[in-house]
Amino acid sequence: MAALTTGVEHEQVIDVHERFYEFIRSFRDRSDSYKYRERIKQMITMGQKSLIVDYNDLYLFDNRLARLLIERPDEVLQQASEVVKEVVMTEAPDYAETIDRFYVRVRALPRVVPLRRLKSEYLGKLVMLEGILVRTTPVKEKIVKARFMHCTREQGCHRFDWPPEGELIGDILERPPACPICGSSGGTFRLLPEESKLIDWQRIVLQERPEEVPPGQLPRSIEVVLQDELVDSARPGDRISVVGIVRVRPDSVSKKRAVFDLYIEANHIEVSQKILEEVVITREDEERIRALARDPWVRKRIIASIAPAIYGHWEIKEAIALALFGGVPKITEDGVRIRGDIHVLIVGDPGTAKSQLLQYAARIAPRGIYTTGKGATAAGLTAAVIRDKTTGEYYLEAGALVLADGGVAAIDEIDKMRDEDRVAIHEAMEQQTVSIAKAGIVAKLNARTTVIAAGNPKFGRYLTNRTLADNINLPVTILSRFDLIFILKDRPNPEEDRKLARHVLEVHRETERIKPEIDPALLKKYISYARRYIRPRLTAEASKLIEDFYVEMRRMSSENPEGPIAITARQLEALIRLAEAHAKMALRNEVTREDAEAAIRLMKTFLESSGMDIESGRIDIDVIMTGKPRSKQEKLTRIMEIIEELESESEEGCARLKEIQRRAASEGIESSLVEEAIRSFRRDGIIYEKSLGCYAIVR
Ligand SMILES: [Zn+2]
Ligand SMILES: [Zn+2]
Repeated sequence: MAALTTGVEHEQVIDVHERFYEFIRSFRDRSDSYKYRERIKQMITMGQKSLIVDYNDLYLFDNRLARLLIERPDEVLQQASEVVKEVVMTEAPDYAETIDRFYVRVRALPRVVPLRRLKSEYLGKLVMLEGILVRTTPVKEKIVKARFMHCTREQGCHRFDWPPEGELIGDILERPPACPICGSSGGTFRLLPEESKLIDWQRIVLQERPEEVPPGQLPRSIEVVLQDELVDSARPGDRISVVGIVRVRPDSVSKKRAVFDLYIEANHIEVSQKILEEVVITREDEERIRALARDPWVRKRIIASIAPAIYGHWEIKEAIALALFGGVPKITEDGVRIRGDIHVLIVGDPGTAKSQLLQYAARIAPRGIYTTGKGATAAGLTAAVIRDKTTGEYYLEAGALVLADGGVAAIDEIDKMRDEDRVAIHEAMEQQTVSIAKAGIVAKLNARTTVIAAGNPKFGRYLTNRTLADNINLPVTILSRFDLIFILKDRPNPEEDRKLARHVLEVHRETERIKPEIDPALLKKYISYARRYIRPRLTAEASKLIEDFYVEMRRMSSENPEGPIAITARQLEALIRLAEAHAKMALRNEVTREDAEAAIRLMKTFLESSGMDIESGRIDIDVIMTGKPRSKQEKLTRIMEIIEELESESEEGCARLKEIQRRAASEGIESSLVEEAIRSFRRDGIIYEKSLGCYAIVR
């Protein structure tokens, strides 16, 4: 017996039915209780029909049986199902009568087959796969036992079940070759769907997790068929492990193609609950993380480790760092969920380092995804109902924010997102869900995702005399979801240019020295650790500081006679999140005065860089968000239009200063403002002096 090694030989000596019966009857767990007898009792009380078996238990009981299960799952699972029925028959015969088929579902196989390694050698075997559920079809009904009516002239009509007992219907239901009652193959066979037995059936697509995809390659995916109770047990965006049998697509065989598609017939599915467990942190890692956190300069070192090859932009890197750590999500007394995720937007001139910053952020974030506003797939940034070109079937597919659930989505060129995403992204950024209802598919998916986004200015360059809302092609409703917005300008400044040039040269000369302060692999673990375990609480002192700042900002705005609300509860929540994230960065459980000060400092930087109302000199969030034109801004816009008009009217293709001033004066715009506007337009690179005192627009 000990010499038996192959599956075929096992079969000859193992009475699967007897061994499995014995397993259920006699297996005891560590607490000495009859685990599977208990589970069957529970199954009966709960009105369920699946018995879940831990693979390791079966292995401990009889390793040959366990190996046979992997090698020949169809036979073993069929026998096991019959055994369960038998056991239920003795325990609760009435219940057993009501169930057509009991299932034995196997969990936690010893080995996960990577999706990219799934080859035909696994055909017909039981495997375990892990990945993200990216796509589901609506639930359909599949016939498992068909009832036909056979009518012939001689015999009249009679009904029969098909296929015969013990046989299963594949994916295609074929007309019986002959009638099992009269033996004739002539006459008519009619399927009676209402008398046939149906089960729920659904197709899903499992895709490699982004962190498993080798750099520069596309993620691999595989179809999984769910039946009966497994249907709808997971949603797009869920990280799942699937135990199932590897099959080959019957339609690909019938088309007589040489290449077949593999798919999985699921036996068991588990949805991973622990979002951050994917980043493995060993005891040694934990020691290194703790040691790092003890360094009083840890935050500076973390910020300096973000995209070290990019010179400067300290406050943007700090904002990215805070977003990576995140605040603490809360649920208010009346059940409203307040997100802990910090969303950051960088609006920048082309040629600035936005994309590199984003790519780096996605690399060190747990569950980080880098994508563009257009989205890498048809599902875009949120989710979509898509029609499959070959099957005509509708399916629901998860987009980037759903796939990065629990992590960070770095979205480049967010201003180029699709119209469907513009409608859906608010919900994702605030309620952290994505709802979809289309073509009979209704779903609500989780999107507890931090958004770090970048966008290009609408006019090619950021125009300082226009509002943020004017400058970027995003609706105010989306802009207001960002906790921090930064403007990255590429403006000539000799001193800065020299520093930048030195830095770039240095990067190229000695890459060694630009090594990040903290190794990216360790930083990723550090961030993951903080997100998993650190939930800092606001101290009274920090609360007071944030409250005072908030009240002062509100007061300033109420003094404004035009009376827009300068700062809203949104900014208050943002301040709290930022302060919490600042504490998390040093793995501290208390939000101190220092944390609150850091949050206020960043908020001020944001407001000053993008929200200062030019006329009043006051920070006015209404201007940032609504882009409500101010008198001066209206005038500046008009001056720009005058330049355009004169340029197209003139023969030399430029607008003379005298002419601009004359036309502006006729509309009540003072000459000094025209001069100021021209200086500012030239500085922003919108216009240039084509010939002496004559200006043209840069195109
Ligand atoms: Zn038996
Ligand atoms: Zn017949």
